[in-house]
Amino acid sequence: NIRTRFAPSPTGYLHIGGARTALFSWAYARRHAGTFILRIEDTDVARSTPEAVQAILDGMKWLGLDADEGPFYQMQRMDRYKAVIQEMLAAGTAYYCYTAPEELDRMREEQRARGEKPRYDGRWRPDAGKALPVPPEGVKPVVRFRNPTDGVVAWDDLVKGRIEIANAELDDLVIARADGTPTYNFCVVVDDRDMGITHVIRGDDHVNNTPRQINILKALGAEVPLYAHLSMILGDDGTKLSKRHGAVSVMQYADEGYLPEAVVNYLGRLGWSHGDDEIFSREQFVEWFDLDHITPSAAQFNTEKLNWLNAHYIKQADNSHLAADVSSRLARRGVDPEAGPALEAVIALYKERVANLNELADSAELYCVEVHPAPELIAQHLTDPARAALATLKARLASVTWDKAALSQAIKDTMAEHGLKMPQVAIPLRVATLGVAQTPAIDAVLEVLGRERVQARMARYV
Ligand code: GLU
Repeated sequence: NIRTRFAPSPTGYLHIGGARTALFSWAYARRHAGTFILRIEDTDVARSTPEAVQAILDGMKWLGLDADEGPFYQMQRMDRYKAVIQEMLAAGTAYYCYTAPEELDRMREEQRARGEKPRYDGRWRPDAGKALPVPPEGVKPVVRFRNPTDGVVAWDDLVKGRIEIANAELDDLVIARADGTPTYNFCVVVDDRDMGITHVIRGDDHVNNTPRQINILKALGAEVPLYAHLSMILGDDGTKLSKRHGAVSVMQYADEGYLPEAVVNYLGRLGWSHGDDEIFSREQFVEWFDLDHITPSAAQFNTEKLNWLNAHYIKQADNSHLAADVSSRLARRGVDPEAGPALEAVIALYKERVANLNELADSAELYCVEVHPAPELIAQHLTDPARAALATLKARLASVTWDKAALSQAIKDTMAEHGLKMPQVAIPLRVATLGVAQTPAIDAVLEVLGRERVQARMARYV
């Protein structure tokens, strides 16, 4: 049974990189009918906040990445970590180290001076036949892991291939601080073991932790999971993705009018591919997803492609679904979504023409509020001859059958009567009714706006 986890540290929002890690871990579990676990790594008390926890939960929910188990919180598992530390001390796979911080600094300085890599020299490490120093009075010890000294630690990374580190490169990691609190790498190990994780899918910023974690797992007699380290995500310009590149928080994409379907589809393609397929649903992604087609090189974020996908998913979406979203966007702007015609009808007119839901709301807003065309638009388009034609048209529209065919005929008749071309009537009519010079087909706009609104809006100019 496959068990994966997403283990964010709640020190900020759920960013694009984290969301992709979560998506891949989730999809891998779903693909294999396994279990996906959410684990909040909140032991960095100074940097973890409840708001960040909430932002992560909100982001996961928005993306539809539901956890089968959790959220677990590491701060609630402290007793467990401490118990495992006691077990390791008893088993001799960990030991107390009384080296004071100043002493450690001195040790490192001396090593640097000799041109060596600074590392803990193992002075408190119990080895056969070695006499340990006498524990100093009043010094609280840290606990260190007794890392193997010979051989290599190796794993076949599912993305990066085989990785081998000589144990001689690794010093004895502190697993509990002097105040007894367990350290980051140790908590991860205990959790991955206790939670029965089979596949650790995470960012490659953790690659350096993996050999240490494997050694501790082995010392605990635990089965070592498989690891897949995902390459980082670069911004449009090829540098590491950061706030400079615009939105990096998942919920900011929600605010900016992206559909979660588009973001999930886009994230799915960030460093993973299925032939030339660009568009796939969440279900299709789950069916196709594997770890063999993850690119080991860095993935580059492409906002244009995301926008293209978003436009695609907006076109595909149910009008009622879009209407619910647009309605709440309008309400947040202080616009009454009930003040215009049925939103679904407005959305049907615009959903093929927008890149995001805010643009859809911008257009819908014109149907709900009294519009105020820019003075230049009025001067340019609502000229005397144009107003004369609109007056004729307004009279016709008072009694015409309210459907596209009849509306279109009324416009044509007005054109003929005033010797004007289509744009000479249609553009003034757009400016008068919606306050802008460009809209979808004018007969469709009028039909959706409805007779009363059209009459009232035209009346301001004729
Ligand atoms: N908590 C770590 C992070 O947010 C992830 C640890 C892991 O996946 O092993 O980067």
